[in-house]
Amino acid sequence: MADAGVAGDAGRASSDLVVRASRVLVDGAWQPAAVAVRGGLVVAIEAVDAVLPVHDGGRDVTLPDDEVLMPGVVDTHVHVNEPGRTEWEGFASATRAAAAGGVTTIVDMPLNSIPPTTTVEALELKRAAAGPQSVVDVGFWGGAVPSNLGTGDLRALHEAGVFGFKAFLSPSGVDEFPHLGTDELHAAMREIAAFDGLLIVHAEDPDRLDEAAAALPEGAGGAVYDDFVASRPEAVEQTAIEHVVEALRATGGRAHVLHLSSASALATIRAAKAEGLRLTVETCPHYLTFDQAGIPDGATQYKCCPPIRDAANRELLWAALVDGTIDVVASDHSPSTAELKFAGDGSFDEAWGGIAGLELSFRAVWSGARARGIALETVLGWMSRGTADLVGLGAPRSGGAKGRIEVGAAADLVAFAPDEPFVVDAALLAHRNPVSAFDGAELVGRVGATWVAGVVVDAAAPPARLITRR
Ligand SMILES: [Zn+2]
Repeated sequence: MADAGVAGDAGRASSDLVVRASRVLVDGAWQPAAVAVRGGLVVAIEAVDAVLPVHDGGRDVTLPDDEVLMPGVVDTHVHVNEPGRTEWEGFASATRAAAAGGVTTIVDMPLNSIPPTTTVEALELKRAAAGPQSVVDVGFWGGAVPSNLGTGDLRALHEAGVFGFKAFLSPSGVDEFPHLGTDELHAAMREIAAFDGLLIVHAEDPDRLDEAAAALPEGAGGAVYDDFVASRPEAVEQTAIEHVVEALRATGGRAHVLHLSSASALATIRAAKAEGLRLTVETCPHYLTFDQAGIPDGATQYKCCPPIRDAANRELLWAALVDGTIDVVASDHSPSTAELKFAGDGSFDEAWGGIAGLELSFRAVWSGARARGIALETVLGWMSRGTADLVGLGAPRSGGAKGRIEVGAAADLVAFAPDEPFVVDAALLAHRNPVSAFDGAELVGRVGATWVAGVVVDAAAPPARLITRR
């Protein structure tokens, strides 16, 4: 923004909302600005003290000096579990947690709800559940499972607006969402490539998992965290990612590796990208925050698949984010009831695998980044702009592009105090079951306010929008 401000004649008409801040992220840089909003869109970005009329009932807000104005986080990996396992998580609680954590858009995973989102009929059930009670924007992934390959369901889901298709290469943890074998992976990628869709992959190899299980000493497992990690070694991810790369090469499709935990797979990923294959990669806040040595035996709130590995591995993930090998960070918020999360009294074999961290995702990554001298705008590149671009929400669209503050973009905005320390109390989090691996963590960052389409999310917030790929 120049002194005179970036345009928008529309800014001269009265606005629904004006937000003024000493630091607003515009064009990748922080600058003082006033952002005017009308009809859910940013309509002008002007000098911080610009005269911008607001209509009756509108608001002109000046953020305190310790708060920046940033684009809302776009979390492309959230398991809401409703309908069917609403006691684990639901749209009301998940979207409240999202807003409290500065997340203005979530894209819901196709499994753990019943039915899973593998047909248009199931997608419509999801939409009916989400529509009336979501306070941030919600979109949906479809699922690719053996039973819907070659049936037309994938194309129908694509045309109905899902953002892509999730597949597992090893058992998913729920019976109603079976994994794909290697041939089925190729078939799914070929079918999805025909309409240039995106396949997102849980990349763990079942044969390597069996080998690792067979190699564990007698009596290993249970509550011993090191044994849990040994049961899912890095080779499990490596082999699965090699299968994804081979499928990309064979089909010319697009694939996105979810929740990368193993740094040893980075060389394969770098080579695939250098070859020009259409591969992108996600990692998650828990892999960037915790490490194996810090996880007590029996602490199954940390159980996730693939597992949290050692500190040296964690630092390699950070480096891979900084150098662009890993593209984005999303929460993989995958809660269950406390009963299931602690099933087996600390046994990693029996507890539900999934980390509940939607509300803390952005602040956990920011806290880790800040400690490593990485800038806030860089984190937003991974968690807002990058994730929006991954699913096509960064392009101009009805409702405005997401992941950036610019004229014509969605007015999905967050007031954020980046330097305020706090200690996580899981009991105070808004997601349904008060369990989180982040309980007791010392993080930084306070979300002052969250606006979705220019409307502040508070107790009286109206339902937000369901969004589609187009
Ligand atoms: Zn997941």
